[in-house]
Amino acid sequence: MCCNLHMPTPRERKPFASSPAIRGRMQRQLSRDTEPELRVRSALHALGLRYRIHQRPLPELRRVADVVFRPHKVAVFVDGCYWHGCPLHGVRDHKVNEWYWPAKIQRNVERDRDTDHQLRAIGWEVIRVWEHEDPGLAAVRIESVVRSRKPKCPGDTSINSQIEESPEMGTEDDR
Ligand SMILES: [Zn+2]
Repeated sequence: MCCNLHMPTPRERKPFASSPAIRGRMQRQLSRDTEPELRVRSALHALGLRYRIHQRPLPELRRVADVVFRPHKVAVFVDGCYWHGCPLHGVRDHKVNEWYWPAKIQRNVERDRDTDHQLRAIGWEVIRVWEHEDPGLAAVRIESVVRSRKPKCPGDTSINSQIEESPEMGTEDDR
């Protein structure tokens, strides 16, 4: 078989890092632009929605949303099934018939709920999409929420009026 047929996924790639700082940046990079996230972004783009990616909804809150509709105050997080404790693909303890998660995942889940709580407390809507969800259906769900919310700036009545961005090249917060 031709070796060119196998394209490594971001997870498979093992980048060489020449310093801890560069390695840290590479690791952050790998956790972004995951395949489920790209699929949701593409589906949103196909619906004509324009958005920002990898932004903090609130600068002072150290939580980065995957997709942000800032004028509509809608934050979207695409959560990986394993690391965010998906109830369908998490880890189940069959002896006690209950869900349990390793401590790291439990902390992620608690942090997610805290993020939801903090954003909703200041008038944001939070939408969470599981990695296993159909990206097209998720995009329709997101669209209906975004279109139901008035944009914050007067005059900016269209969600299509934001800067045009491709799903691959969306604007990132400079962190
Ligand atoms: Zn799942």
